[in-house]
Amino acid sequence: TANISPFVNEPFVNFGLEENKQAMEKAISKVKSELGQNIPLHIGERKVFTEDVITSVNPGNLDEVIGYVSKANQALAEEAMHIAVNTFETWKKVSASERAEYLFKAAALMRERKHEFSALMILESGKNYAEADADTAEAIDFIEFYAREMLRLEQINETQPLTKVQGEDNRLTYIPLGVGVVIPPWNFPLAICVGMTTAAVVSGNTVLLKPASTTPVIAHKFVALMEEVGLPAGVINFIPGSGAEVGDYLTSHPKTRFISFTGSKEVGLHISKLAANTSEGQIWIKRLIAEMGGKDGIVVDETAGLDAAAQAIVASAFGFQGQKCSAGSRAIIVEAVYDEVVEKVKELTEKLVVGSPELNYPAGPVIDKGSYDKILGYIEIGKAEGTLLTGGSPAVGNGYYIEPTVFADVNPDARIMKEEIFGPVLAICKAADYKEAIHIYNDTEFGLTGSYFSSDQKRIEEALETMHCGNLYINRKCTGALVGAHPFGGFNMSGTDSKAGGYDYLLLFTQAKLTSRK
Ligand code: NAP
Ligand code: MG
Repeated sequence: TANISPFVNEPFVNFGLEENKQAMEKAISKVKSELGQNIPLHIGERKVFTEDVITSVNPGNLDEVIGYVSKANQALAEEAMHIAVNTFETWKKVSASERAEYLFKAAALMRERKHEFSALMILESGKNYAEADADTAEAIDFIEFYAREMLRLEQINETQPLTKVQGEDNRLTYIPLGVGVVIPPWNFPLAICVGMTTAAVVSGNTVLLKPASTTPVIAHKFVALMEEVGLPAGVINFIPGSGAEVGDYLTSHPKTRFISFTGSKEVGLHISKLAANTSEGQIWIKRLIAEMGGKDGIVVDETAGLDAAAQAIVASAFGFQGQKCSAGSRAIIVEAVYDEVVEKVKELTEKLVVGSPELNYPAGPVIDKGSYDKILGYIEIGKAEGTLLTGGSPAVGNGYYIEPTVFADVNPDARIMKEEIFGPVLAICKAADYKEAIHIYNDTEFGLTGSYFSSDQKRIEEALETMHCGNLYINRKCTGALVGAHPFGGFNMSGTDSKAGGYDYLLLFTQAKLTSRK
């Protein structure tokens, strides 16, 4: 079933319509009635329940347990590695179209159960309806897109677009790498986990999936779906556990051939060091695909549409409480329109009512106690570094709720302008003109997303050329991947620029073998 029709993104659900809202409420009730189960590791065919578990809790209602997830130790991780190595020998021989077929089936089933997946994310990660729905839609897109990409890669393998040399049969074939460790973050607990995993397995690799410890239940729901569509046991092994323990063990394992990681700069750099260390029995250098943090920013000049700019700043800074690698957590505004934009941003931010994600409030909780404390710490730092415009305190609720917080008049060198806070905190800074604003934008160790608001074509050209980031937007907010259309990945300390959802992404999970016959 080679899909040659154009790729179409999964549409978002409009929760402004009462019937859609009710459908989600129903899905939430259903998911709630099934919470609190024991979830096993998947090691090949074996389902392993351990005594030591990760207790996944609803960040918006701390009394609600989402699930008790079994936790791997080194011995179990080693057993899974053994299975993944053996399974690779058979899985790599399965035809590309057959591998893709498992993905097409999984995408179709996920589409049927879209609200169920989103409802679980609402409860486990604290996303509101639209944010959770976008996450599920992106997951469906990734699965279908990578399945189609595998079919396309197979065509490239077969058609051999090499320069012809007389008397030679030359072929370049993209073959899988081997066993990979997949380490996703919690902030797109479905889409990123699904995207990295399906890209790896559809290109013929086997995987050890170590989910984020705050969102392992939704990751397991995906693994169970892959099992349901008949993916052979051992292709995806589900190995929850602590990053520092199981993560380190697997990334430094001599049989690990590649690591696909998305998460913070700190952990990404740590893994990058481990990946470069050879150990006994390692006969190759590990491939590292690492997508890391950001300190993204929106630049507004005096020719911009100021309402649109202010709306973009607020949407980008506070969507999912600012817990997105793409969050525009800095706004750099030229002096001539500074006061006006700042006032608009304040007004719009104050409309974001904080409350339970289950009830679809626009502003929900942050993920866990560690994040909560870290963000409140940055807010204290911000009070010394800028003018607190709005927010600045915890918000009421039985969860990790923090008011959407805006600081104005922040110095470009302030910590809240430089460091990734990963919470509902926006820092605004004034620039003399657009040139200085772009200079401030670029003065960061990161380089993930950026946006420029202007109606001046010449300046827009200049911004397109000089703003240094992986994903640059003009007159629209900083945002995340749109599979196929907006491949996503960052520069500098934001990662290895492995463009997820892009037309060259699968190549990262393969190696090219050149054969030349006389
Ligand atoms: P994180 O703390 O770096 O964790 C990411 C993953 O790494 C988790 O599964 C974590 O496991 C694991 N881990 C932690 N220590 C490890 C170690 N020593 N060895 C191996 N694995 C280890 O990041 P996060 O808090 O989940 O996610 C937020 C970060 O991700 C932000 O910086 C955000 O910007 C970034 N992000 C980037 C992108 C992008 O595309 N560039 C997309 C989304 C998010 P545990 O949960 O068990 O600690
Ligand atoms: Mg973390």
